[in-house]
Amino acid sequence: DSGSGDGEEQAIVAGTAPGFPPFEIKQDGELTGFDVELLEAVVEAAPGYTFDRWSEFEFDSLIPALTGGDIDVIAAAMTITEERRQTIAFTDAYYEADQSILVRADGDFQPTELGDLAGRPIGAQTGTTGEGVIRSELIETGDLSESNYNGYGNYTLAVQDLENGNIDAIVIDKPVAETFASERDVEVAFTYETGEEYGFGIRQDAGDIQSALNEGLATVEEDGTYEELRNEWFSS
Ligand code: GLN
Repeated sequence: DSGSGDGEEQAIVAGTAPGFPPFEIKQDGELTGFDVELLEAVVEAAPGYTFDRWSEFEFDSLIPALTGGDIDVIAAAMTITEERRQTIAFTDAYYEADQSILVRADGDFQPTELGDLAGRPIGAQTGTTGEGVIRSELIETGDLSESNYNGYGNYTLAVQDLENGNIDAIVIDKPVAETFASERDVEVAFTYETGEEYGFGIRQDAGDIQSALNEGLATVEEDGTYEELRNEWFSS
């Protein structure tokens, strides 16, 4: 920070979308998770900035909240994509993931590739890269009609509908699929490699925040905080 050196730290309001375990969850009414703890540590390690508070949204509302100035940072396991880069900027990547296909654990439907989902009622969380895979690989190819696709405000609702038999599969980030599989009546059928990378989202005109957060991220990676949090929130 080449700033004024007056000791005033800028307070950061961060936005997230709970219901995406173990990245952002509500535990006994408290917001927590890997992203939540990591972002707070990164901001505290970012020169010139201090953490203020969290604000919660549905995933699809996070980018408008950021560009509209309601929040300063998005911490929501958000994949860095070219499409999103038209509207917002990202910090350096802090996590890698692919997409997994989640099915009921009863064993009735055992797809092994995306083509097996053809003609089936399936779901994802609106505005996600999982939805993007369904659109580009199944709907646009004509294997799935739009009416077979169910978009949910939150993946937790999609998992409920899967358990209830209203849909047959969900496309969702692999680490979250594995977490739901360990907690609910669902299992991972197979994984579709996308090589996605998560970054914290910031406004395009927020170059100061971007470089400060990247510095904070490098610091928590070097001092062991990042590894500690990974061990705390992920078993493998
Ligand atoms: N990584 C996915 C995306 O960016 C899903 C994120 C989420 O649902 N919180 O679209």
